[in-house]
Amino acid sequence: MNSKPEKIYKGIAASKGISIGKPFVYRAEVPSYKVDVSPAAILSSDAEISDYESAVNQSVKELNKIFSLAKEKLDEKNLQIFEAQLSFLYDNFFHSKVKDRIRSENKQAFAVFKEEIQILENAIVASNDEYIRDRVNDIEDMKNRVLRNLLKGRLVSKITENSIVIARNLSPADTILFSNRNLLGIATDLGGINSHVALISRSLRIPAVVAMQEISVNIASDDFLIIDGYKGLVIKNPSEDTIISYREQIEKNNELERKLEEIEKLPTETKDGKQVRLSTNLEFNNEVDYVVTHFGCDVGLYRTEHLFMEQGDFPSEEDQYKQYKFLAEHIYPKTVTIRTFDIGGDKILPESQKELNPFLGWRGIRICLDKKETFLAQLRAILKASTGGNLKIMLPMISGIEEVKKTYQYLEEAKSQLRSSNIRFDEKIQVGVMIEIPSAVILADELAKMVDFFSIGTNDLVQYSLAVDRDSSLVCDMYEKFHPAVLRLIDMTVKSAARNNIPVSVCGEMASDPYASLLLIGMGVTELSVVSTQYLQIKRLIRLVNYEKSREVAAKVLTMSTINDVKTYIEDCFNKNIGEQLEAVN
Ligand code: PEP
Ligand code: MG
Repeated sequence: MNSKPEKIYKGIAASKGISIGKPFVYRAEVPSYKVDVSPAAILSSDAEISDYESAVNQSVKELNKIFSLAKEKLDEKNLQIFEAQLSFLYDNFFHSKVKDRIRSENKQAFAVFKEEIQILENAIVASNDEYIRDRVNDIEDMKNRVLRNLLKGRLVSKITENSIVIARNLSPADTILFSNRNLLGIATDLGGINSHVALISRSLRIPAVVAMQEISVNIASDDFLIIDGYKGLVIKNPSEDTIISYREQIEKNNELERKLEEIEKLPTETKDGKQVRLSTNLEFNNEVDYVVTHFGCDVGLYRTEHLFMEQGDFPSEEDQYKQYKFLAEHIYPKTVTIRTFDIGGDKILPESQKELNPFLGWRGIRICLDKKETFLAQLRAILKASTGGNLKIMLPMISGIEEVKKTYQYLEEAKSQLRSSNIRFDEKIQVGVMIEIPSAVILADELAKMVDFFSIGTNDLVQYSLAVDRDSSLVCDMYEKFHPAVLRLIDMTVKSAARNNIPVSVCGEMASDPYASLLLIGMGVTELSVVSTQYLQIKRLIRLVNYEKSREVAAKVLTMSTINDVKTYIEDCFNKNIGEQLEAVN
């Protein structure tokens, strides 16, 4: 029996589901991380030294990669920062000293490294030379990188399987890394409903609650938790009654899931017989079998940057080819839309070079166009895997015509390279663009003439049209997909696609929302690509709704000018017809 009092913390529900279990409190901010110096926390000297060597090697690898990226963006002076950091990492004298001390003093690598760096920093700060004194920041950056790598390996192996991770914030890379430990749930102080961490949790079917403000401080490792990803709650030390009622709810949800399987083989059409193209977003290979056997649908969005995040580096052309081929063959005869790397400046730049507004910075297609060889390698890998004729290429973050023109030049170059090596590929491979920046909506008619399809990325379209950071917990109330301006931008895109006879899908999270999915169909979107966990739910709703009615609802909504009017009206209309069912989906 639990003797501690029950306490409920509220945040934003980011990924549905309920879990009950022990927490793992993750502190990623390495510099403030308190080192556990108890004898039990110290591995054997050999293991400590081997961890230290791996962390240094990993840091060298990361810095080399960043250095080669930075060469294209930074001037000589700024490049020296990386050279200095690298030369330090190659300093065997320093490393020997650390390793000798680990052995002779039987201390953790983490602690010895920190102390030795401190000695070095003190010497630098004491220097009379201003230039040398400024180098402290570079050392700080490098120190954090090594510590992070040292800690990361340690932390991941320390996460007990089946625990609920509690953290101030998680990077997408952390989330992917941790998911290998069968996480039961995630709760973070920061983050928004459409931050990439939230998206990844949803596709991994891990219940998640974000924007909890101080959950990382309020939970201790000896607490017991329930995470409610429907209501956005973390319940600390729940009473027996609470646990029983949540167990009942879990059973009810399982029952609902089982019922949903009954509609797997039925067509995706509305009550009045309108066929709707429903595809799924796919994130991980272990979802492929499920998608094939249970949905048998196209993959409307495959985010390739996950390959980058998993290994902290651009994957080789060969590795990419294998991955794209794997998808093409397994999903065949259905199609897979492969989105080229949509990596953000915040994910590849070091601390010292971080952009103030990474979402407005070096991201997506901008990086690909600047890094020609990397982009060519990705295009060749997709082309080589396209011989079955079921792959499509999709470009993220398109803001104007020039980016598409330049991409086509690269694509032609990649194709002629393959032709001259007698390598076959799909000569008619389709190319589409994501519509997720307002300038692309304004230029939609021109863009439509250049490409085979549009896919609306509502996650970014909302943030860029409303100037609301999708990652920020402070303005998450303003991040609103039902904002009339957002709906009108979608409407402009849909009409432009229709005028130019190309299909338009929505692959952002909006397509996976019950009310929004019905509204989008009424607006004339030709395809919805939804999160795999929502696929059957959305299919069920489509089968319950009347297409002509949705058209009327959408037409009326597009005349409205406030969020409140839109929400009240669609809730009212759809609830009248399929209220109970909507309830079960939400
Ligand atoms: C979007 O912006 O809606 C989208 C699908 O892309 P991402 O979430 O990966 O930015
Ligand atoms: Mg996007």
